[in-house]
Amino acid sequence: MNFDPTEDQRRWRDLARDFAQNEIRPRAAELDREQKFPYDIVADMADLGLLGLTLPEEYGGSGGNFVAYNLALEEISRADTSVGITMEAHISLGCAPILAYGTPEQKERYLPRCATGENLWAFGLTEEGAGTDAGGTKTTARLEDGHWVIDGSKKWITNSGTDITGGVTVIARTGTRENGKPELTAIIVPQETPGYTRGPGYEKLGWRAADQHPLYFEDCRVPEENLLGERGRGFSQFLATLDAGRVAVAALSVGLAQACFDEALARAKEREQFGRAISGFQAIQFKLSDMAMEIELARNMVLKAAWLRDTGRSFGREASMAKVFASEAAKRAADEAVQIWGGEGFMETSAVARYWRQVKINEIGEGTSEINRQIIARSFLTETPQEAKQHLITP
Ligand SMILES: Cc1cc2nc3c(=O)[nH]c(=O)nc-3n(C[C@H](O)[C@H](O)[C@H](O)COP(=O)(O)OP(=O)(O)OC[C@H]3O[C@@H](n4cnc5c(N)ncnc54)[C@H](O)[C@@H]3O)c2cc1C
Repeated sequence: MNFDPTEDQRRWRDLARDFAQNEIRPRAAELDREQKFPYDIVADMADLGLLGLTLPEEYGGSGGNFVAYNLALEEISRADTSVGITMEAHISLGCAPILAYGTPEQKERYLPRCATGENLWAFGLTEEGAGTDAGGTKTTARLEDGHWVIDGSKKWITNSGTDITGGVTVIARTGTRENGKPELTAIIVPQETPGYTRGPGYEKLGWRAADQHPLYFEDCRVPEENLLGERGRGFSQFLATLDAGRVAVAALSVGLAQACFDEALARAKEREQFGRAISGFQAIQFKLSDMAMEIELARNMVLKAAWLRDTGRSFGREASMAKVFASEAAKRAADEAVQIWGGEGFMETSAVARYWRQVKINEIGEGTSEINRQIIARSFLTETPQEAKQHLITP
């Protein structure tokens, strides 16, 4: 077994680390405080090839593999998870489904602009009544005169309302199956389509420099050829999309956990009480040891799941395992980092206070811990991960 990254993987990790530590980390507190979307950082990341990291070179992408992407994403998120989720949602949720299911024309039209950072792309699944249970999708799309006519709304959609957003891939109900379950279909909606509007952004606990909006569709018409993949395949498409997304959210969690450890270690070495650095106390050492162990384990789980995907093997269960463990390890790391910082950690002047606010979403977005535990359990009890997920949809 070889734990060494390849030269290419190492290059992406180091490039992301350099950029993140020099250009993102010093501005993370300000971006969070001002809730500003960092257009200049995103443009620089695009220039470095990070926004098209997993896209093939024929579409202007960097041609990196999934392990390389997760290594880079960890580094970006170590500096700021707002920027991390912008990159993750663009690559894993925005670009990946178009690459996987798009026609040659769709790929030609949308992917080069996504690879160069001219556009960000969004993925709209969640609605008021459809969170964990996508079967509750109420947004409809019907075919009329060679157009899909979309009506309904979505909520919390990442990257949907920036000045450079190119559009959203929306999951809509296009009918009802014989078994009574909804027929869900993915449809591409360019940003300036009449009848498609966005509401204002949200006041959030974390990811405050990232972009999320509610989306509204009212008699919104797009050409029939904007169908992504086959009609009625939307459910299996977003399950596959979310599998890969979960690995990436786990990588994002590892980056944040590492940032917590970095801050905790620095403070433990510097802060003196009882005439010595608090790192000399065993109670603090054990906290740091536990954080380091869990980060090591979470990172290995991310890389194993990513490697399985790169080698074309099934990785759904490992993706769920990595997501649950890494997000919860990051939460414990954030908590202990604040504890090691003491009262200073309760102050918004500390980075760990920000990390403590930011960490919670990782247990919720792209599949909650509860639902991922269900996927894991079903995979060894009675069903394959794919079958288990099929049962998560209600008629
Ligand atoms: C900042 C942010 C960004 C987001 N970005 C996007 C995006 O870009 N695109 C997109 O489509 N969505 C996005 N989401 C939505 C996100 O994926 C959902 O929040 C998530 O899937 C959970 O849905 P929910 O919040 O409605 O929770 P709910 O489904 O209402 O769940 C509430 C609680 O009930 C539990 N629960 C639900 N069903 C079960 C069950 N069967 N068994 C046990 N427990 C259960 C859940 O685990 C959770 O603890 C975003 C959300 C946020 C907050």
